Amino acid sequence: MDLKSKIAIYPDFPKPGISFKDINSLIKDGEAFHEVTDQFYEIAKALDVNVVCIPEARGYIFGSALAYKLGVGLVPIRKPGKLPGEVMAKSYKLEYGENTVEIQKDAIKTGDRVLIIDDLLATGGTMKAAIDLVELLGGEVCGALFMIELTDLKGREALKDYYVRSLIQFP
Ligand code: AMP
Repeated sequence: MDLKSKIAIYPDFPKPGISFKDINSLIKDGEAFHEVTDQFYEIAKALDVNVVCIPEARGYIFGSALAYKLGVGLVPIRKPGKLPGEVMAKSYKLEYGENTVEIQKDAIKTGDRVLIIDDLLATGGTMKAAIDLVELLGGEVCGALFMIELTDLKGREALKDYYVRSLIQFP
């Protein structure tokens, strides 16, 4: 199946100069969503992970389906102030400004084998922050999976020490 053709592209969204890749057109297509989940599963099953970690919000979509297939649990990474209890926070730079993400401190145990999955790799900042949080809690990051990779932004360079796979690439 040509998954790339299922991604809708919106120029200048959410601001001028950004070519927004919309996964909603893909996930509403049952066959395409099934195919994507199967492809993620084929990659992930070899990694022997016991946790799938999901950055808010679109990581939840693919991560939930994948964790179900793998038979493992989910750990959310969220925007500040959303997670109860003790949390660990990590800030990172955006093109303009800064972002912060949080994880619950008891969500990862030392030695957990963790797969992190998100919808799109742009600069890699979001994924690197997620990796840092998992590692701060003693988890081992076994892979970073993405539906889409924007290759011109070279996000892989920020993740060069990790196993990175994407299903679809755009320049
Ligand atoms: P980054 O931290 O730069 O790798 O950005 C990754 C996050 O920003 C992803 O979780 C995406 O949801 C979102 N994002 C960045 N650029 C785009 C884009 N061109 N189209 C859709 N989502 C994007």
